[in-house]
Amino acid sequence: MILNDLTWTNTQARRLKELGVGLDDFPGFFSTLGERDKLFQKIEKKKVRKERARLKKFLVKGGKTSLESLVDDISLALCKHGFTRVATPVIISMSALAKMTVDKDNPLFHQVYKINEKQCLRPMLAPSLYSLMVDFCRVDHRPIRFFEIGSCFRKESDGARHNKEFTMLNLVEMGTAPEKRYERLEELSRLIVKTAGINDFRFEKEDSRVYGTTLDVVSGKESLELASGAMGPHPLDAAWGITDTWVGIGFGIERLLMASKGDTSIGRWAKSLSYLDGMRLSI
Ligand code: ATP
Ligand code: MG
Repeated sequence: MILNDLTWTNTQARRLKELGVGLDDFPGFFSTLGERDKLFQKIEKKKVRKERARLKKFLVKGGKTSLESLVDDISLALCKHGFTRVATPVIISMSALAKMTVDKDNPLFHQVYKINEKQCLRPMLAPSLYSLMVDFCRVDHRPIRFFEIGSCFRKESDGARHNKEFTMLNLVEMGTAPEKRYERLEELSRLIVKTAGINDFRFEKEDSRVYGTTLDVVSGKESLELASGAMGPHPLDAAWGITDTWVGIGFGIERLLMASKGDTSIGRWAKSLSYLDGMRLSI
């Protein structure tokens, strides 16, 4: 007789998930505790052996993690398309955030890691890229294209799609012809998504508190947001004194990895002490 309530313990289910075991491949209910625990031990032992061998192979061969490889591939693709890679500080001023209307009335404000009254860890790259746009405006050539890839920080509660530290790619093209902006945003998004090896994606228009109307890139049945894009002239431009037309889009690199690997959880692909290139380390 199968007892309907005799299933994996929470600890067993968590452990199997950590090891990346798909529970659908095994019976969900058991006749006896002994039968369940025996199967658990068998699956765990086999998986641990396999994972140790995989980790060994990865470390012995040497090379980059998927996160680092994707950053490099995207960087190369954008540089080939005339973009300049920039690097700006991780610590930014609260006044730069305020210029993005990220103040007490904006939910994002409460997700910001403040260092002191004047400084915080950047929750996005946009304030720094806006600041660069102000200086690049003086260069008498259009288009001007640049991008940054780097860590951003947000206090988050949903762990399946969010990390407290994540890697943002933000690209900007200044001087895009007004009638071409939307098309261009889609074209640049396609370049990034294809570089990440993702075929299952779609575009969605959305309203954002910070950016007004935005173009989101979304993947899969679960509608995983990969990116949000915007275009100028834009209501935020006045605070920076910018009058150019532009397009810009921000992608989460770990979200791109999640989608390309078909994973439902972002933790495996984050900067982490628990995982290396998707492999659980405490095995
Ligand atoms: P979400 O609604 O999924 O929380 P968002 O709209 O707040 O995301 P944006 O500000 O639009 O995020 O940031 C641009 C991109 O950065 C997102 O589309 C996503 O890919 C990525 N991203 C944002 N927050 C996180 C996070 N905490 N962890 C991982 N990636 C993130
Ligand atoms: Mg968004």
